[in-house]
Amino acid sequence: MELKVCKFGGTSMADGNVILNAAKIVSADVSRRYVVVSAPGKRFGGDVKVTDLLIALYDAYERADRATFEKVFEKIEGRFLGIEKELGSDLKMRKTLDTVKNEVLSGAGRDYCVSRGEFLAAQIMSEILHVPFVDATEFVRFDERGILKEETYSLAARVLANYPRAVIPGFYGLGADGKVKTFSRGGGDISGAVVARGVNADLYENWTDVSGFYACDPRIVDAPKCIEELSYRELRELSYMGANVLHSDCIFPVKSAGIPIRICNTFRPEDKGTYIVPAIKRRVGDTVVTGIAGKTGFTTIGIEKSMMNAEIGFARKVLSVIEKHGVSLEHLPSGIDSMSIVIDNTFLQEKEIERIVEEIEAAVSLDRIYVHENVALIATVGHGMAKSIGTSARLFKALSEAGINVNMIDQGSSELNIIVGVDAKDCNACIRAIYHEFFN
Ligand code: ASP
Repeated sequence: MELKVCKFGGTSMADGNVILNAAKIVSADVSRRYVVVSAPGKRFGGDVKVTDLLIALYDAYERADRATFEKVFEKIEGRFLGIEKELGSDLKMRKTLDTVKNEVLSGAGRDYCVSRGEFLAAQIMSEILHVPFVDATEFVRFDERGILKEETYSLAARVLANYPRAVIPGFYGLGADGKVKTFSRGGGDISGAVVARGVNADLYENWTDVSGFYACDPRIVDAPKCIEELSYRELRELSYMGANVLHSDCIFPVKSAGIPIRICNTFRPEDKGTYIVPAIKRRVGDTVVTGIAGKTGFTTIGIEKSMMNAEIGFARKVLSVIEKHGVSLEHLPSGIDSMSIVIDNTFLQEKEIERIVEEIEAAVSLDRIYVHENVALIATVGHGMAKSIGTSARLFKALSEAGINVNMIDQGSSELNIIVGVDAKDCNACIRAIYHEFFN
């Protein structure tokens, strides 16, 4: 029989009614045997996610600000007791909440505290479905650097083999120190993928509040096309560049097992959604570009030097400066006489870029060095681009007609994407221009 893992995101767990909706989706298909849940998310614009409340709770604990701690705890309590009331059954929320509070106050740690939204949400779902709760700490393992350990998959297989059905909290596991450890934000998607791999699912259904993956952000272009099928690699490129339907790392667990992911809408379960599959056979008439995504917050350092290609060790000397600063590179496009170094601003401390430039000038002799701060990177992604002549010409013509100045270009060797760097203020206009060129 087919086996599906379903993961419900924060908006699908936000209140009693939507939780019932999610439970109905699970019960409608007997192959939906493993359920992974996020913490309750926003119920309306301006609402606060439970995970954000838990972060605020821990910050107050660390500052020893007891008044704020109590105030935030009351809000968290309000969310879970409210859900219990809406569902009209005794879910022992108060008792579990008291335990959480005592544990946090006795030093259980930040990740323990921040992960309790998922822990409580999974208990609720387990009660409603009458399906056993299995804690993620039983099989999700991280190493000392916080990286997911390979043994997680065999452990998941072994633990979950004892349960024909289970509800599992997303977002956390056990760290190398034996304490609860979380993934990065949005990591419930990775937990779902881990479970899918562990039980060797036929399909990983990711239930969210949109009907699939759009060709670009619907806040930038009105009603963009919904992508029917996307490859793992296209998804990774688009998510990494800011399309935030799924966590960009959730591909890794399912990739080697070739398990497809389906993005589905909890509020419109009949919609087809988007399938994310290992490889795509393009048909005649398919669009050349699959999707466009972009984000701001980058800095580029441009270096010019005549005959750079002839000077052995030039790039190494420049890059050692970057390495010494512990900064990781996003992109490194280069020509015969020039190179650009693209850095994510989150790695840079105040005035660090000035020090990096000075050190590069001291390390090599060059003709010109310049810095662009406030850069946005926009990725145009699609396997179809490799075989279609004139794609970059169309893209750059569209940008020039829109009056957008491109200050960096990088085309991956796989021809899966073309990345352009533009001023942050042009980010949305750039996405719009590319979308209209390829989709209208
Ligand atoms: N609740 C966590 C977050 O808000 C994880 C998740 O929802 O996947 O980031």
